[in-house]
Amino acid sequence: MNLIVQKFGGTSVENPETLKIVAQKIIECKEAGNEVVVVVSAMGSSTDELINLANELSETPSPREMDMLLSAGERITMSLLAMHLNNLGYESFSLTGSQAGITTTSRHGMAEIEDISGERVKEGIEDGKIVIVAGFQGVNKETKEITTLGRGGSDATAVAVAKIFNADSCEIYTDVDGVFSTDPNKIPVAKKIDKISYDEMLELSSLGAKVMQSSAVQTAMMYDITLEVRSTFTERKGTKICSQESI
Ligand code: ADP
Ligand code: ASP
Ligand code: MG
Repeated sequence: MNLIVQKFGGTSVENPETLKIVAQKIIECKEAGNEVVVVVSAMGSSTDELINLANELSETPSPREMDMLLSAGERITMSLLAMHLNNLGYESFSLTGSQAGITTTSRHGMAEIEDISGERVKEGIEDGKIVIVAGFQGVNKETKEITTLGRGGSDATAVAVAKIFNADSCEIYTDVDGVFSTDPNKIPVAKKIDKISYDEMLELSSLGAKVMQSSAVQTAMMYDITLEVRSTFTERKGTKICSQESI
């Protein structure tokens, strides 16, 4: 049995309708005989909305409280998705980063994943359940505080989960068909890339291609974890991000 990590970004989990599409993608993967671990982002632009709310009440919100606030975004998505999957007859449960045993450095707003114990994820997989992990967050062992991983950080969660569980595939679902030569939402003639090396992807990410977070690509490169960037909303083949030798 293969273990697949599927990550769904904010653009894929924007509202109940798109969450239903996401659930069908997960069910398809499960019905094909795979074990599935799902990583989710906050719904649509809800992280930005939470930041705006904080700024309305404080000019200098404490980094600790910002992480408490922002980590809530992913909790909303994960619980809604688990409820829906259960309603469809697929046993599923959600875990915060901390519940999944994701430990990070202590730097609020910019933490890096150090380790994932993942016991409850493992238990869920063994019980044949669909485990949904909140992206973008973890906990620091020393301070015991909740941390977030920087904007776009659910990508980093997905790559780290794929590494720890030695996943057979790490699929990054978003609202475009894959990685393009330039932002397809700004330049409609942009070309989709079938395969791209970690190095080239890093260059695109550092130039602002937010389709993949830079530090997630760095981790994938370090451990040679092939990533597949695909659309949640089409069946088109996406983009493989892999080592130069595999291109
Ligand atoms: P998600 O919510 O799935 O994490 P993001 O908004 O973080 O999605 O990233 C997807 C967006 O990245 C696309 O909607 C697209 O506008 C933008 N983007 C910028 N540059 C690129 C690129 N070179 N290829 C693909 N998408 C790009
Ligand atoms: N919700 C976080 C953000 O908007 C993390 C992510 O989407 O990957 O940056
Ligand atoms: Mg993103």
